[in-house]
Formats: sequence, C-alpha cells, structure tokens
Amino acid sequence: MSYVDEVLERVKAKNASEPEFLQAVEEVLESLRPVIEANEEKYRKEALLERITEPDRQLKFRVPWVDDKGQVQVNTGYRVQFNNSIGPYKGGLRLHPSVNIGIIKFLGFEQVFKNSLTGLPIGGGKGGSDFDPKGKSDREVMAFCQSFMTELCKYIGADVDVPAGDIGTGAREIGYMFGQYKRIRGMYEGVLTGKGLTYGGSLARTEATGYGLLYITEELMKCHGESMEGKTVVVSGAGNVAIYAIQKAQQMGAKVVTCSDSTGWIYDPEGIDVALLKEVKEVKRARLTEYAAARKSAEYHEGRGVWQIKCDIALPCATQNELLIDDAKQLVANGCKAVCEGANMPTTLDATKYLQDNGVWFICGKASNAGGVATSALEMSQNSERLSWTFEEVDAKLKQIMVNIYHNIDDAAKRYNMEGNYVAGANIAGFEKVAEAMLAQGVC
Ligand code: NDP
Repeated sequence: MSYVDEVLERVKAKNASEPEFLQAVEEVLESLRPVIEANEEKYRKEALLERITEPDRQLKFRVPWVDDKGQVQVNTGYRVQFNNSIGPYKGGLRLHPSVNIGIIKFLGFEQVFKNSLTGLPIGGGKGGSDFDPKGKSDREVMAFCQSFMTELCKYIGADVDVPAGDIGTGAREIGYMFGQYKRIRGMYEGVLTGKGLTYGGSLARTEATGYGLLYITEELMKCHGESMEGKTVVVSGAGNVAIYAIQKAQQMGAKVVTCSDSTGWIYDPEGIDVALLKEVKEVKRARLTEYAAARKSAEYHEGRGVWQIKCDIALPCATQNELLIDDAKQLVANGCKAVCEGANMPTTLDATKYLQDNGVWFICGKASNAGGVATSALEMSQNSERLSWTFEEVDAKLKQIMVNIYHNIDDAAKRYNMEGNYVAGANIAGFEKVAEAMLAQGVC
C-alpha cells in the first residue's frame, strides 16, 4: 500500500467522528501524492505524514459565564495548536453553535499550509467555542470573552500562539479578549490580531481577506488574458470576508449581484449596495431582509440559492461545505469561468472536482483567503517594532503577497505536471516549506 493510503487509513480510523477534518486531510494528501511518491522512503522513515496530520496539542476547556438574567451558562472552548515548525501558532477563533473539535482541527490543519503559503513566519492553529454571539447583549458577549480568555491566556503569547477573528469573532470580541489577557498577564503585547486601531491593530486588516481574495482573482484572470472589468460576480456570505470582497470587486469594475446570510440570500441585479450592506450587517447586526426592505432593486429569498445566478466569477465567502455538486453543475452550465474561495473549504470535494474537470479555474481557500492571516502577520510585525504603517503600505504588501501566492501555486502545479490545478499547487507549495522545516528540526 502506498504511504499516502496507509496514512489516510490511519487518520480515518483515529478520527472517525470528525468528517470535516477527514475531508481536509484527504484533499491535502490526495493532491500531495506526486510529492510524497518522489520522497516516499525518507518521509515514511521520518513518519512525516503521521506527524503533520497530528496536532501538536488540543486544548478543550469549560467557559462559564453569567447571562443578563443572572443565569450561569456553560460553553466549551477549544484551541488546537497544530504545527509551529515555521513560526508561532496563528489562526482565528470561531464563535458559532456548530463549533466542535473536528471543525477546529480541520481549520487548524488548513491553516498550517495557508500560513506557509503567505511566505511569512507563522505556524498553524485555530480555536473557538460553541458560543453564539447572535442575539446576545454586549455585556453577555463581554462576560463570555473574559471567561474564555481567562483559560486561554495560559497557553498563548506573542511568540507562542497569536489568535485572531473568524466567524462570530470581530473587533468587539477581540477587544474584550485583549482587555482580559492584558489584565491577567499584566503585559501589553501583540497576542491577538484584528485589534482596534487605537490599541495595536493594523490598518487594512478588516479589509484584508476580502481584498486579498480579489487581488488573487484579478491575477488569475490577468494570467488567462481577462480582466475584472465588466464581469458579473456572485458572492455568498454577508460577513467580514464577503463585504470587503464585494467592495474590492466593485472597485475593480465588476458587478456583484448576490450575497447571503444563514437564513436567506439577496439578488440585486443593479449591484450590491455595500454601504447599505455594511449598515445592515456591521452596524445593526440585522438580517438581510432589512437590506431588501431598503433597496428597490433587491429580491430576498429564504434558504440558499446564490449559485443559480448566472455569473462569470463565483466567490463563496460564508462557511464550509456551502457549494455542493449541484451548485457546481449549475455554475458550469451558466458559463462561470472562475471560482475562488473566500471561506475555508466552502466547496465540497466532488464539487471541486466537477469544476476542475469542466475547465473552471478554481483557487482553494488556503491560497485565496490567505490575505487575512498575512495581514495579521503584518500586524504582528508592527506590534513588535511598535510602529503603525499606513493603509497604503499594508495594502500594497497584501497585494504583493497575493500575487506571489498565485505564481507560487501556479509554478508548483507546473513542476508536477498538473498545470492549472491550483488546489494541488497550493497544497504542494504550502507543504514543501513546512516539511523541510520539520525535517530540519529533527523528531519533534
Ligand atoms: P462572519 O461571521 O463575519 O460572516 C460569516 C457569514 O457567513 C455571515 O454572513 C453568516 O451569516 C454566514 N454564515 C455563517 N455560518 C453559516 C452557515 N452555517 N450557513 C450559512 N451561512 C453562514 O465571518 P467571516 O466573514 O470572518 O468568515 C467567513 C469565512 O471566511 C469562514 O469560513 C472563515 O473561516 C473564513 N475566513 C475568514 C477570515 C477573516 O479574516 N475573517 C480569514 C480567512 C478565512 P449570518 O450573518 O446570518 O451570521
């Protein structure tokens, strides 16, 4: 049996109840086959794949807090420190009722390769809780964040592990967590990223994932002799990634006609009004029905459906497994040219394969949404030198990083005779650096 199959079997047996983690490992290892085969003896002897698929450590803890009625609530907190071969653990904190250890592990595993692709010295980790910030008062969110950080602060630090935002964790939550860390540890350090601008945050971090997604999409189009100008784009999600993806796409001359949230979706043939979307989702934290109510050209639909709208480019920016095989078929039938993932693993394995087999240029999240973590690493650099760079400086660095990622993954795919397979290219380019660092550091 090949080394890849042997490890896949072992990972499946050990993590049978974690489907998202298995899905992520399978996608990565399958596309690494040619690299592994070329080094099979060495990697097997070093148990490299066993080590790379096993987190350095997993933390799971109780998070008790008191709600506005005086009732004690209990949530579960997680931090998976997956791999620190190339730098301190780095990755977001997800606050969503669906969070469990398998989801955090899949995100942490993906983060290892993503962070490697940025070219910056950051390892991979991820964390979060099954706490749902929706419908909670600011005081309740603060109570939860303080309790969460009271435990987490024992395991993180500016040179150890630097968490950031993710679904459900925005500037408000990061602020409460930073305040608690500072209070307990008695030190002011860049232990979290995505901080507010008055206390060590970086300009352009809020925009970074969405903007970065568009910088890599633009480069992809350019390298295929196309531009963003005049293209019709469909986006899912209406959170941090989606909002700034829509904004940058429009700045590039494209028309974005959809967005969605966890209850429904908007079709706005005149183009999404970003200012209104921000008002509804960022300021009021309301549903998309409010967007439709305020905008004549917009239709609101319950459930899911953005992928049925005819487009040139599709950008899934909400959550994992939101673009399924039937959606992929619809996109192909509608003549979609490119799918670039803003979210983590939004496209299922069979949908990805269908898109690739039918000539759609497909860039996976670990490459195309790496702009967020890359800018977080730039925030860490600014914190270390106690300086703040201008928006233009950070944005220019972000753009360069995204263009470099495109060419690195394109080159990696070509080196292994898989031209145009950006999933394989991303996994190979991300893996090579981590593997080399792990081998150089001995058995650990
Ligand atoms: P937000 O919480 O800001 O937004 C998430 C959006 O997706 C919301 O519109 C939310 O709807 C919707 N959503 C969440 N869960 C579901 C679900 N189960 N079904 C349907 N819709 C859902 O998160 P982000 O924008 O930060 O993150 C989006 C994705 O991008 C995630 O996969 C995240 O891991 C990834 N990512 C984020 C980065 C960042 O810098 N923020 C960096 C790299 C990746 P509702 O408004 O109803 O909650």
